[in-house]
Amino acid sequence: MEPRKTRVVIAGGGTAGWLAAAVLARQLGPLLDIVLVESEDIGTIGVGESTIPTVRAFHALLGLDEREFMSTTGATFKLGISFENWAHDGDRYIHSFGDVGKSTWMGDFQHFWLEARRRGLAGELGDYCFEHQAALDDRFATGPNGKLNYAYHLDAGRYAHFLRARAEAGGLKRVEGRIAKVDLDAESGHIEALVLADGQRIEGDLFLDCTGFRALLIGEALGVGFEDWGDWLPTNRALAVQTVSTGPAVPYTRAIAHDAGWRWRIPLQHRVGNGLVYASDFLSDDEARARLLESIEGERLIEPGLIRFRTGRRMKAWQGNCIALSLAGGFVEPLESTSIHLIMTGLTRLMQAFPFDGVSPAVVARYNEQSRGEIERIRDFIILHYHLNDRPEPFWRRQREMAIPDSLAERLGLFVESAQAYQGPEDLFRVSSWLQVLFGQGLTPARYHQLARLIPDDQLRQALTDLKTNIDRAVSRLPTHQAFIQDYCPEKTEAA
Ligand code: FAD
Repeated sequence: MEPRKTRVVIAGGGTAGWLAAAVLARQLGPLLDIVLVESEDIGTIGVGESTIPTVRAFHALLGLDEREFMSTTGATFKLGISFENWAHDGDRYIHSFGDVGKSTWMGDFQHFWLEARRRGLAGELGDYCFEHQAALDDRFATGPNGKLNYAYHLDAGRYAHFLRARAEAGGLKRVEGRIAKVDLDAESGHIEALVLADGQRIEGDLFLDCTGFRALLIGEALGVGFEDWGDWLPTNRALAVQTVSTGPAVPYTRAIAHDAGWRWRIPLQHRVGNGLVYASDFLSDDEARARLLESIEGERLIEPGLIRFRTGRRMKAWQGNCIALSLAGGFVEPLESTSIHLIMTGLTRLMQAFPFDGVSPAVVARYNEQSRGEIERIRDFIILHYHLNDRPEPFWRRQREMAIPDSLAERLGLFVESAQAYQGPEDLFRVSSWLQVLFGQGLTPARYHQLARLIPDDQLRQALTDLKTNIDRAVSRLPTHQAFIQDYCPEKTEAA
């Protein structure tokens, strides 16, 4: 007799639900019986359109063809984020996905660069990063010889449809309906079934809570608490609106600071996603709406939608036979586009430790520990952007003066005292990311490694010039981002 398949019930059909469905169907399909429940009446959050390069490895697990994915969803390429007005008004830096300069075993590039700056021999930090310069110049190419590290801007609605089609082709069953109740086993406390408003009962062995901020399973039914990080990251609302494109899409997200938060601009092939993130203690909804509308370019395609959110994490991402993904499990505001990445790492970990033979407390504990570590490190990276600022407004003054987590304070101390940055085992962000943001937000180390003092002026100048010249030459050979998209993956209109 064939062993019984594990029954997986996915609650929710946003980006989290459909990513889970698509990857489980593809990677473990024959061993699972998967059902996804979603409610069209409730709908999805409708944002979440900027990604980071790890998305590409996950797409490989899904077996996605890049050109098909991009042309079907109207996606564009992303080389980083342009931070505007963050340290102070008029300021701009790009946090790109590239490596900055070249490192040696004794010290990373910034030590050489700082010494060269002191001697007046070096340009801006970004001059020594390929992705940075390509983004600035609005150029892009990929393919067998492509060397740029990149991610995507995508249309969240089209992405979910695209994933759904793949999951359904892989045999997944989708149920339309509103979850009205969650039945628990009185003895184990595990979830037995979801009960829908029309009375349908959907039983399972493993439940994935992808119900968004509602957290119907992990929060409401299982009562797992939430650790609130609002003191460190007080933005708690966003207004989002889509507009018609008014020009070629640039290969980066724009994150533009305002007096009580920031706004985003995400260019897709067929439209632009815009949003204003703010702290409601410092800006009213009406003011936020006016500010968003005065800043957008191009005709509005929808009315601005208000999203309330809470920054923090679920105390346990996995409880009993329920695993929370994305918004149900925790959320750090979208400044560095990390939520979709967290869905993907959560799913990868789940597949690596899949509970075919029942839930093991040791496996659950390890999963929860890893989930905690990765989201806390991301939290620190986001706080960094807010904390290091020189803006005059009360919101920004508060962020500058607040006490920061010890883990971040330790990192800042190390950088100031020695110019060292590092990527720890739980860190998503690499040394080059920390450097671009630390320097970009205006922090200057008091000391750095003295090894560069051994290098005479002409050698140091030549090394930096060669680095920059090679990058500039490589960038000048690239087509513009728009021209590359037009050739490689032009949007298929929905009717086509
Ligand atoms: P949702 O999209 O809310 O989906 C929840 C699902 O559950 C829906 O299908 C809904 O119908 C269903 N549901 C809920 N209740 C019930 C019920 N009772 N019965 C049946 N079904 C139910 N992430 C990034 O990576 N990059 C970004 O640029 C980015 N920008 C963001 C900007 C903002 C302002 C916010 C708030 C988030 C952003 N995110 C971003 C996060 C990203 O939007 C989410 O990670 C992603 O959309 C996944 O959401 P979800 O699937 O968890 O929830």
